[in-house]
Amino acid sequence: MELSSPSAKIALAVARRIQAAGHRVVFAGGCVRDFLMKRTPQDFDLATSALPDEVEALFPKTIPVGKQFGVILVVEEGIQVEVTTFRREGSYKDGRHPTEISFTDDREDALRRDFTVNGLFYDPFAGKILDYVQGQADIIKRQIRAIGDPQKRFEEDKLRLLRAVRFAANLGFEIEPATWIALKAQVPAIHQVSPERIRDELIKIFTRPGAARGFDLLSESGLLRAILPEIEAMKGVEQQPDYHPEGDVFIHTRLLLEKLENPTVTLAFAALFHDVAKPVTFARREDGRITFYEHAPIGAEMTRQIMKRLRFSNQEIEDVAVCVDNHMKFGDAAKMRSGKLKQFIAHAQFQEGLELHRIDCLSCHGKLDNYHFLQEKIKVFSEEDLKPKPLVCGDDLIRLGMKPGPAMKPLLEDAYVLQLEGQFASKEAALAWLRGRLPAP
Ligand code: ATP
Ligand code: MG
Repeated sequence: MELSSPSAKIALAVARRIQAAGHRVVFAGGCVRDFLMKRTPQDFDLATSALPDEVEALFPKTIPVGKQFGVILVVEEGIQVEVTTFRREGSYKDGRHPTEISFTDDREDALRRDFTVNGLFYDPFAGKILDYVQGQADIIKRQIRAIGDPQKRFEEDKLRLLRAVRFAANLGFEIEPATWIALKAQVPAIHQVSPERIRDELIKIFTRPGAARGFDLLSESGLLRAILPEIEAMKGVEQQPDYHPEGDVFIHTRLLLEKLENPTVTLAFAALFHDVAKPVTFARREDGRITFYEHAPIGAEMTRQIMKRLRFSNQEIEDVAVCVDNHMKFGDAAKMRSGKLKQFIAHAQFQEGLELHRIDCLSCHGKLDNYHFLQEKIKVFSEEDLKPKPLVCGDDLIRLGMKPGPAMKPLLEDAYVLQLEGQFASKEAALAWLRGRLPAP
Protein backbone atom coordinates (compact mmCIF):
# COMPACT_ATOMS: atom_id res chain seq x y z
CA MET A 1 0.00 0.00 0.00
CA GLU A 2 1.49 3.30 -1.05
CA LEU A 3 0.97 5.93 1.63
CA SER A 4 2.20 9.02 -0.16
CA SER A 5 -0.69 11.55 -0.23
CA PRO A 6 -0.59 14.22 2.51
CA SER A 7 -3.56 12.75 4.38
CA ALA A 8 -2.15 9.20 4.05
CA LYS A 9 1.13 10.40 5.56
CA ILE A 10 -0.67 12.00 8.47
CA ALA A 11 -2.72 8.84 9.04
CA LEU A 12 0.54 6.86 9.04
CA ALA A 13 2.13 9.26 11.55
CA VAL A 14 -0.93 8.86 13.80
CA ALA A 15 -0.60 5.07 13.50
CA ARG A 16 3.13 5.27 14.41
CA ARG A 17 2.41 7.20 17.55
CA ILE A 18 -0.25 4.69 18.65
CA GLN A 19 2.07 1.78 17.90
CA ALA A 20 4.96 3.42 19.75
CA ALA A 21 2.73 3.54 22.84
CA GLY A 22 2.50 -0.25 22.68
CA HIS A 23 -0.86 -0.79 20.92
CA ARG A 24 -1.87 -2.64 17.77
CA VAL A 25 -3.08 -0.39 15.00
CA VAL A 26 -4.12 -0.99 11.37
CA PHE A 27 -5.68 0.87 8.45
CA ALA A 28 -9.30 -0.26 8.19
CA GLY A 29 -12.29 -0.43 5.86
CA GLY A 30 -12.82 1.78 2.85
CA CYS A 31 -9.26 3.10 2.57
CA VAL A 32 -7.80 -0.41 2.31
CA ARG A 33 -10.39 -1.36 -0.32
CA ASP A 34 -9.62 1.81 -2.28
CA PHE A 35 -5.90 1.19 -2.13
CA LEU A 36 -6.26 -2.35 -3.43
CA MET A 37 -8.42 -0.97 -6.25
CA LYS A 38 -5.97 1.86 -6.93
CA ARG A 39 -8.55 4.50 -6.10
CA THR A 40 -8.06 7.60 -3.96
CA PRO A 41 -9.65 7.07 -0.53
CA GLN A 42 -12.18 9.66 0.71
CA ASP A 43 -10.67 9.46 4.18
CA PHE A 44 -8.47 7.25 6.35
CA ASP A 45 -9.76 5.15 9.20
CA LEU A 46 -7.55 3.41 11.73
CA ALA A 47 -8.60 0.54 13.97
CA THR A 48 -6.69 -0.12 17.16
CA SER A 49 -6.45 -2.09 20.39
CA ALA A 50 -5.95 1.22 22.24
CA LEU A 51 -8.98 2.31 24.28
CA PRO A 52 -10.60 5.70 23.51
CA ASP A 53 -9.05 7.31 26.63
CA GLU A 54 -5.64 6.01 25.60
CA VAL A 55 -6.06 7.45 22.09
CA GLU A 56 -7.11 10.81 23.49
CA ALA A 57 -4.10 10.91 25.79
CA LEU A 58 -1.67 10.45 22.88
CA PHE A 59 -2.71 13.46 20.77
CA PRO A 60 -3.04 17.18 21.48
CA LYS A 61 -6.20 17.62 19.42
CA THR A 62 -8.98 15.01 19.41
CA ILE A 63 -12.76 15.09 19.06
CA PRO A 64 -14.79 12.39 20.87
CA VAL A 65 -17.29 12.01 17.98
CA GLY A 66 -18.50 8.59 19.04
CA LYS A 67 -16.56 7.83 22.16
CA GLN A 68 -19.14 5.41 23.56
CA PHE A 69 -18.70 3.35 20.36
CA GLY A 70 -14.92 3.67 20.55
CA VAL A 71 -14.56 6.38 17.90
CA ILE A 72 -12.14 9.28 18.37
CA LEU A 73 -11.21 11.79 15.67
CA VAL A 74 -7.55 12.76 15.77
CA VAL A 75 -6.87 16.13 14.14
CA GLU A 76 -3.34 16.75 12.90
CA GLU A 77 -2.45 19.66 10.61
CA GLY A 78 -6.14 20.20 9.97
CA ILE A 79 -6.63 16.63 8.70
CA GLN A 80 -8.95 14.28 10.55
CA VAL A 81 -8.14 10.64 11.07
CA GLU A 82 -10.86 8.43 12.55
CA VAL A 83 -9.42 6.08 15.15
CA THR A 84 -11.76 3.32 16.29
CA THR A 85 -11.08 0.79 19.01
CA PHE A 86 -11.54 -2.84 17.84
CA ARG A 87 -15.10 -3.60 18.85
CA ARG A 88 -17.89 -6.15 18.63
CA GLU A 89 -21.51 -5.16 18.62
CA GLY A 90 -24.25 -6.54 20.84
CA SER A 91 -27.83 -6.89 19.71
CA TYR A 92 -29.39 -4.11 17.62
CA LYS A 93 -32.37 -1.93 18.46
CA ASP A 94 -34.51 0.26 16.16
CA GLY A 95 -33.04 -1.27 13.00
CA ARG A 96 -30.07 1.00 13.08
CA HIS A 97 -28.00 1.09 16.33
CA PRO A 98 -26.36 -1.55 18.51
CA THR A 99 -27.67 -1.61 22.08
CA GLU A 100 -24.17 -2.07 23.40
CA ILE A 101 -20.65 -2.62 22.17
CA SER A 102 -17.58 -4.11 23.78
CA PHE A 103 -13.93 -3.93 22.93
CA THR A 104 -12.24 -6.91 21.30
CA ASP A 105 -9.60 -7.96 18.75
CA ASP A 106 -9.14 -7.19 15.07
CA ARG A 107 -10.82 -10.38 13.82
CA GLU A 108 -14.10 -9.70 15.57
CA ASP A 109 -13.90 -6.08 14.50
CA ALA A 110 -13.71 -7.21 10.86
CA LEU A 111 -16.76 -9.43 11.35
CA ARG A 112 -18.97 -6.59 12.61
CA ARG A 113 -18.41 -4.55 9.42
CA ASP A 114 -20.99 -4.49 6.65
CA PHE A 115 -19.52 -5.88 3.41
CA THR A 116 -16.48 -8.04 2.77
CA VAL A 117 -14.80 -5.40 0.59
CA ASN A 118 -15.14 -3.01 3.55
CA GLY A 119 -13.81 -5.53 6.09
CA LEU A 120 -10.13 -5.46 5.21
CA PHE A 121 -7.22 -4.24 7.34
CA TYR A 122 -3.73 -3.20 6.40
CA ASP A 123 -0.86 -3.41 8.88
CA PRO A 124 1.51 -0.65 7.70
CA PHE A 125 4.42 -1.85 9.85
CA ALA A 126 4.38 -5.45 8.62
CA GLY A 127 3.27 -4.28 5.14
CA LYS A 128 0.51 -6.92 5.25
CA ILE A 129 -3.19 -7.08 4.38
CA LEU A 130 -5.30 -8.79 7.06
CA ASP A 131 -8.29 -10.42 5.43
CA TYR A 132 -10.65 -12.27 7.80
CA VAL A 133 -13.66 -12.03 5.47
CA GLN A 134 -12.43 -12.96 1.97
CA GLY A 135 -12.68 -9.34 0.98
CA GLN A 136 -9.79 -9.54 -1.49
CA ALA A 137 -11.50 -12.35 -3.39
CA ASP A 138 -14.68 -10.25 -3.66
CA ILE A 139 -12.74 -7.25 -4.93
CA ILE A 140 -11.37 -9.52 -7.67
CA LYS A 141 -14.87 -10.88 -8.36
CA ARG A 142 -16.15 -7.30 -8.24
CA GLN A 143 -19.01 -8.03 -5.90
CA ILE A 144 -20.64 -6.60 -2.79
CA ARG A 145 -21.28 -9.39 -0.32
CA ALA A 146 -22.53 -9.04 3.25
CA ILE A 147 -20.20 -10.35 5.93
CA GLY A 148 -21.88 -13.38 7.55
CA ASP A 149 -25.63 -13.93 7.21
CA PRO A 150 -26.93 -11.20 4.86
CA GLN A 151 -30.47 -11.28 6.24
CA LYS A 152 -29.22 -10.75 9.79
CA ARG A 153 -26.82 -7.99 8.73
CA PHE A 154 -29.57 -6.01 6.96
CA GLU A 155 -32.01 -6.62 9.81
CA GLU A 156 -29.50 -5.17 12.27
CA ASP A 157 -28.95 -1.94 10.39
CA LYS A 158 -31.21 -0.83 7.54
CA LEU A 159 -28.79 1.87 6.43
CA ARG A 160 -26.77 -0.99 4.94
CA LEU A 161 -29.46 -1.39 2.23
CA LEU A 162 -28.50 1.98 0.82
CA ARG A 163 -24.81 1.44 1.48
CA ALA A 164 -24.88 -1.77 -0.59
CA VAL A 165 -26.45 0.13 -3.50
CA ARG A 166 -23.99 2.98 -3.10
CA PHE A 167 -20.88 0.77 -3.12
CA ALA A 168 -22.13 -1.36 -6.01
CA ALA A 169 -22.89 1.77 -8.05
CA ASN A 170 -19.78 3.66 -7.16
CA LEU A 171 -17.33 0.75 -7.53
CA GLY A 172 -19.13 -0.74 -10.55
CA PHE A 173 -19.68 -4.03 -8.65
CA GLU A 174 -22.52 -6.56 -8.72
CA ILE A 175 -24.43 -7.33 -5.54
CA GLU A 176 -23.89 -11.01 -4.74
CA PRO A 177 -27.19 -12.97 -5.19
CA ALA A 178 -27.85 -13.97 -1.54
CA THR A 179 -27.02 -10.41 -0.42
CA TRP A 180 -29.37 -9.02 -3.08
CA ILE A 181 -32.27 -11.28 -2.04
CA ALA A 182 -31.82 -10.34 1.61
CA LEU A 183 -31.60 -6.67 0.69
CA LYS A 184 -34.85 -6.70 -1.26
CA ALA A 185 -36.64 -8.47 1.58
CA GLN A 186 -35.78 -5.64 4.00
CA VAL A 187 -36.83 -2.73 1.81
CA PRO A 188 -40.18 -2.11 3.60
CA ALA A 189 -38.16 -1.41 6.78
CA ILE A 190 -36.02 1.33 5.20
CA HIS A 191 -38.03 4.00 7.03
CA GLN A 192 -36.38 2.94 10.28
CA VAL A 193 -33.44 4.97 8.97
CA SER A 194 -33.64 8.71 9.65
CA PRO A 195 -34.35 10.98 6.66
CA GLU A 196 -31.00 12.71 7.22
CA ARG A 197 -29.06 9.47 6.80
CA ILE A 198 -31.12 8.52 3.75
CA ARG A 199 -30.37 11.98 2.30
CA ASP A 200 -26.63 11.58 2.90
CA GLU A 201 -26.57 8.22 1.10
CA LEU A 202 -28.62 9.60 -1.80
CA ILE A 203 -26.17 12.50 -2.12
CA LYS A 204 -23.29 10.04 -2.32
CA ILE A 205 -25.13 7.86 -4.85
CA PHE A 206 -26.07 10.73 -7.18
CA THR A 207 -22.97 12.92 -6.98
CA ARG A 208 -20.30 10.22 -7.28
CA PRO A 209 -19.45 8.11 -10.35
CA GLY A 210 -22.06 5.44 -11.09
CA ALA A 211 -25.17 7.59 -10.46
CA ALA A 212 -27.20 5.95 -13.26
CA ARG A 213 -26.31 2.48 -11.99
CA GLY A 214 -27.32 3.60 -8.50
CA PHE A 215 -30.65 4.71 -9.97
CA ASP A 216 -31.13 1.25 -11.53
CA LEU A 217 -30.32 -0.54 -8.29
CA LEU A 218 -32.61 1.72 -6.26
CA SER A 219 -35.33 0.98 -8.78
CA GLU A 220 -34.78 -2.80 -9.03
CA SER A 221 -34.54 -3.25 -5.26
CA GLY A 222 -37.77 -1.36 -4.54
CA LEU A 223 -35.91 1.30 -2.55
CA LEU A 224 -36.89 3.98 -5.06
CA ARG A 225 -40.60 3.26 -4.63
CA ALA A 226 -40.14 3.41 -0.84
CA ILE A 227 -38.04 6.58 -0.67
CA LEU A 228 -38.89 8.53 -3.83
CA PRO A 229 -42.32 7.36 -5.05
CA GLU A 230 -42.55 10.53 -7.20
CA ILE A 231 -39.60 9.28 -9.25
CA GLU A 232 -40.98 5.75 -9.42
CA ALA A 233 -44.13 7.30 -10.93
CA MET A 234 -42.13 8.38 -14.00
CA LYS A 235 -41.97 4.77 -15.17
CA GLY A 236 -44.09 4.22 -18.26
CA VAL A 237 -45.04 7.89 -18.65
CA GLU A 238 -44.99 8.29 -22.43
CA GLN A 239 -43.54 11.33 -24.17
CA GLN A 240 -43.88 12.75 -27.68
CA PRO A 241 -41.75 10.28 -29.72
CA ASP A 242 -40.43 12.82 -32.26
CA TYR A 243 -39.03 14.96 -29.48
CA HIS A 244 -38.17 12.12 -27.12
CA PRO A 245 -37.01 9.16 -29.19
CA GLU A 246 -35.34 7.70 -26.06
CA GLY A 247 -38.61 6.64 -24.41
CA ASP A 248 -40.50 7.39 -21.21
CA VAL A 249 -39.75 9.98 -18.52
CA PHE A 250 -37.95 7.46 -16.32
CA ILE A 251 -35.60 6.39 -19.12
CA HIS A 252 -34.99 10.03 -20.02
CA THR A 253 -34.09 10.92 -16.41
CA ARG A 254 -31.73 7.98 -16.21
CA LEU A 255 -29.93 9.21 -19.33
CA LEU A 256 -29.30 12.57 -17.64
CA LEU A 257 -27.82 10.84 -14.60
CA GLU A 258 -25.49 8.94 -16.92
CA LYS A 259 -24.09 12.23 -18.18
CA LEU A 260 -23.25 13.73 -14.78
CA GLU A 261 -19.56 14.35 -14.23
CA ASN A 262 -18.48 15.37 -10.76
CA PRO A 263 -21.74 17.27 -10.28
CA THR A 264 -22.62 19.61 -7.44
CA VAL A 265 -25.47 18.48 -5.18
CA THR A 266 -27.64 21.08 -6.94
CA LEU A 267 -26.97 19.75 -10.43
CA ALA A 268 -27.32 16.08 -9.46
CA PHE A 269 -30.71 16.59 -7.79
CA ALA A 270 -31.90 19.02 -10.46
CA ALA A 271 -31.22 16.26 -13.01
CA LEU A 272 -33.14 13.79 -10.86
CA PHE A 273 -36.14 16.09 -10.31
CA HIS A 274 -36.33 18.24 -13.46
CA ASP A 275 -39.28 16.27 -14.91
CA VAL A 276 -40.76 15.05 -11.62
CA ALA A 277 -44.10 16.72 -12.45
CA LYS A 278 -44.48 15.04 -15.83
CA PRO A 279 -46.52 12.12 -14.47
CA VAL A 280 -49.07 14.51 -12.90
CA THR A 281 -49.22 16.95 -15.84
CA PHE A 282 -49.44 14.35 -18.61
CA ALA A 283 -52.21 15.11 -21.10
CA ARG A 284 -53.03 14.10 -24.66
CA ARG A 285 -54.38 16.79 -26.97
CA GLU A 286 -57.20 16.13 -29.46
CA ASP A 287 -54.68 15.86 -32.29
CA GLY A 288 -52.92 13.12 -30.31
CA ARG A 289 -49.86 15.07 -29.19
CA ILE A 290 -48.66 14.60 -25.63
CA THR A 291 -48.25 17.68 -23.42
CA PHE A 292 -46.98 18.43 -19.91
CA TYR A 293 -48.22 21.99 -19.35
CA GLU A 294 -46.62 23.81 -16.40
CA HIS A 295 -44.51 20.79 -15.47
CA ALA A 296 -41.54 23.02 -14.61
CA PRO A 297 -43.15 25.25 -11.93
CA ILE A 298 -45.22 22.34 -10.58
CA GLY A 299 -42.05 20.24 -10.54
CA ALA A 300 -40.24 22.96 -8.59
CA GLU A 301 -42.96 22.82 -5.95
CA MET A 302 -42.79 19.01 -5.78
CA THR A 303 -39.00 19.24 -5.53
CA ARG A 304 -39.34 21.52 -2.51
CA GLN A 305 -41.67 19.05 -0.80
CA ILE A 306 -39.51 16.00 -1.50
CA MET A 307 -36.27 17.66 -0.46
CA LYS A 308 -37.88 19.03 2.68
CA ARG A 309 -39.04 15.54 3.57
CA LEU A 310 -35.40 14.40 3.19
CA ARG A 311 -34.18 17.28 5.39
CA PHE A 312 -32.05 19.04 2.79
CA SER A 313 -31.02 22.56 3.84
CA ASN A 314 -33.19 25.49 2.72
CA GLN A 315 -30.38 26.70 0.48
CA GLU A 316 -30.03 23.32 -1.25
CA ILE A 317 -33.79 23.10 -1.69
CA GLU A 318 -34.05 26.57 -3.23
CA ASP A 319 -31.09 26.06 -5.58
CA VAL A 320 -32.49 22.81 -6.96
CA ALA A 321 -36.05 24.19 -7.14
CA VAL A 322 -34.85 27.21 -9.16
CA CYS A 323 -33.08 24.90 -11.64
CA VAL A 324 -36.22 22.78 -12.02
CA ASP A 325 -38.43 25.86 -12.34
CA ASN A 326 -36.19 27.41 -15.03
CA HIS A 327 -35.25 24.32 -16.99
CA MET A 328 -37.66 24.98 -19.87
CA LYS A 329 -36.62 28.64 -20.19
CA PHE A 330 -33.24 27.70 -21.61
CA GLY A 331 -35.06 26.58 -24.73
CA ASP A 332 -36.56 30.08 -25.14
CA ALA A 333 -33.29 31.97 -24.69
CA ALA A 334 -32.95 32.98 -28.34
CA LYS A 335 -36.34 34.71 -28.18
CA MET A 336 -35.59 36.77 -25.05
CA ARG A 337 -35.06 40.53 -25.27
CA SER A 338 -31.49 41.45 -24.44
CA GLY A 339 -32.30 42.96 -21.01
CA LYS A 340 -34.28 39.86 -20.02
CA LEU A 341 -31.54 37.62 -21.30
CA LYS A 342 -28.89 39.45 -19.27
CA GLN A 343 -31.01 39.07 -16.16
CA PHE A 344 -31.49 35.39 -16.91
CA ILE A 345 -27.76 34.80 -17.36
CA ALA A 346 -27.05 36.71 -14.15
CA HIS A 347 -29.24 34.50 -11.94
CA ALA A 348 -27.31 32.53 -9.33
CA GLN A 349 -28.11 29.01 -10.60
CA PHE A 350 -27.47 29.82 -14.26
CA GLN A 351 -24.30 27.72 -14.68
CA GLU A 352 -25.89 24.61 -13.17
CA GLY A 353 -29.09 25.32 -15.10
CA LEU A 354 -27.13 25.54 -18.34
CA GLU A 355 -25.38 22.23 -17.71
CA LEU A 356 -28.76 20.71 -16.85
CA HIS A 357 -30.09 22.05 -20.16
CA ARG A 358 -27.15 20.52 -22.03
CA ILE A 359 -27.55 17.04 -20.60
CA ASP A 360 -31.34 17.33 -20.89
CA CYS A 361 -31.05 18.00 -24.67
CA LEU A 362 -28.45 15.27 -25.12
CA SER A 363 -30.83 12.86 -23.38
CA CYS A 364 -33.60 13.41 -25.93
CA HIS A 365 -33.45 15.17 -29.32
CA GLY A 366 -29.73 15.99 -29.05
CA LYS A 367 -29.96 19.55 -30.38
CA LEU A 368 -27.68 22.01 -28.63
CA ASP A 369 -28.52 25.25 -30.54
CA ASN A 370 -29.71 27.08 -27.44
CA TYR A 371 -26.79 25.84 -25.40
CA HIS A 372 -24.29 27.20 -27.95
CA PHE A 373 -26.29 30.43 -28.33
CA LEU A 374 -26.07 30.98 -24.56
CA GLN A 375 -22.36 30.13 -24.41
CA GLU A 376 -21.76 32.76 -27.09
CA LYS A 377 -23.89 35.34 -25.24
CA ILE A 378 -22.00 34.77 -21.98
CA LYS A 379 -18.78 35.59 -23.82
CA VAL A 380 -20.20 38.74 -25.42
CA PHE A 381 -21.74 39.97 -22.16
CA SER A 382 -18.61 39.37 -20.12
CA GLU A 383 -16.52 41.26 -22.68
CA GLU A 384 -19.06 44.10 -22.47
CA ASP A 385 -18.73 43.99 -18.70
CA LEU A 386 -14.96 44.31 -18.92
CA LYS A 387 -15.09 46.91 -21.68
CA PRO A 388 -18.45 48.65 -21.49
CA LYS A 389 -19.34 51.39 -23.98
CA PRO A 390 -18.25 54.84 -22.67
CA LEU A 391 -21.17 56.75 -21.15
CA VAL A 392 -19.94 60.05 -22.60
CA CYS A 393 -18.12 60.98 -25.83
CA GLY A 394 -16.69 64.02 -27.70
CA ASP A 395 -20.12 65.05 -28.99
CA ASP A 396 -21.35 65.37 -25.39
CA LEU A 397 -18.45 67.73 -24.60
CA ILE A 398 -19.23 69.85 -27.66
CA ARG A 399 -22.88 69.96 -26.62
CA LEU A 400 -21.74 71.14 -23.18
CA GLY A 401 -19.94 74.02 -24.94
CA MET A 402 -16.37 72.80 -25.16
CA LYS A 403 -14.31 73.62 -28.27
CA PRO A 404 -13.15 70.53 -30.17
CA GLY A 405 -9.43 69.92 -29.61
CA PRO A 406 -6.74 67.85 -27.85
CA ALA A 407 -7.99 68.87 -24.36
CA MET A 408 -10.98 66.60 -24.84
CA LYS A 409 -9.08 63.34 -24.81
CA PRO A 410 -7.70 63.35 -21.22
CA LEU A 411 -11.08 64.49 -19.93
CA LEU A 412 -12.88 61.61 -21.63
CA GLU A 413 -10.24 59.16 -20.43
CA ASP A 414 -10.71 60.30 -16.82
CA ALA A 415 -14.45 59.97 -17.21
CA TYR A 416 -14.04 56.41 -18.55
CA VAL A 417 -11.85 55.37 -15.63
CA LEU A 418 -14.44 56.68 -13.18
CA GLN A 419 -17.15 54.82 -15.12
CA LEU A 420 -15.20 51.54 -14.87
CA GLU A 421 -14.83 52.15 -11.15
CA GLY A 422 -18.60 52.37 -10.95
CA GLN A 423 -18.66 56.05 -9.93
CA PHE A 424 -21.42 56.95 -12.38
CA ALA A 425 -24.88 55.51 -11.95
CA SER A 426 -26.02 56.96 -15.29
CA LYS A 427 -25.06 59.03 -18.30
CA GLU A 428 -26.51 62.07 -16.47
CA ALA A 429 -24.10 61.52 -13.59
CA ALA A 430 -21.17 61.37 -16.02
CA LEU A 431 -22.35 64.56 -17.77
CA ALA A 432 -22.68 66.37 -14.42
CA TRP A 433 -19.13 65.39 -13.56
CA LEU A 434 -17.87 66.62 -16.97
CA ARG A 435 -19.69 69.92 -16.56
CA GLY A 436 -17.74 70.54 -13.36
CA ARG A 437 -14.45 69.87 -15.15
CA LEU A 438 -14.96 72.04 -18.25
CA PRO A 439 -12.25 74.64 -18.84
CA ALA A 440 -13.47 78.18 -18.19
CA PRO A 441 -14.73 79.75 -21.44
P1 ATP B 1 -16.27 6.12 1.68
O1 ATP B 1 -15.42 5.85 0.52
O2 ATP B 1 -17.59 6.74 1.32
O3 ATP B 1 -15.62 6.85 2.82
P2 ATP B 1 -16.12 3.80 3.39
O4 ATP B 1 -16.12 2.36 3.01
O5 ATP B 1 -14.87 4.36 3.96
O6 ATP B 1 -16.67 4.66 2.17
P3 ATP B 1 -17.46 4.83 5.68
O7 ATP B 1 -18.91 5.18 5.76
O8 ATP B 1 -16.44 5.91 5.69
O9 ATP B 1 -17.31 3.93 4.39
O10 ATP B 1 -17.15 3.80 6.85
C1 ATP B 1 -15.86 3.28 7.12
C2 ATP B 1 -15.91 1.79 7.40
O11 ATP B 1 -16.71 1.53 8.56
C3 ATP B 1 -16.55 0.97 6.29
O12 ATP B 1 -15.63 0.63 5.29
C4 ATP B 1 -17.08 -0.23 7.05
O13 ATP B 1 -16.05 -1.15 7.33
C5 ATP B 1 -17.51 0.37 8.40
N1 ATP B 1 -18.93 0.78 8.42
C6 ATP B 1 -19.43 2.02 8.19
N2 ATP B 1 -20.76 2.07 8.31
C7 ATP B 1 -21.15 0.81 8.63
C8 ATP B 1 -22.41 0.20 8.92
N3 ATP B 1 -23.56 0.91 8.87
N4 ATP B 1 -22.42 -1.12 9.25
C9 ATP B 1 -21.26 -1.81 9.31
N5 ATP B 1 -20.06 -1.31 9.05
C10 ATP B 1 -19.98 -0.01 8.72
MG1 MG C 1 -14.52 6.27 4.65
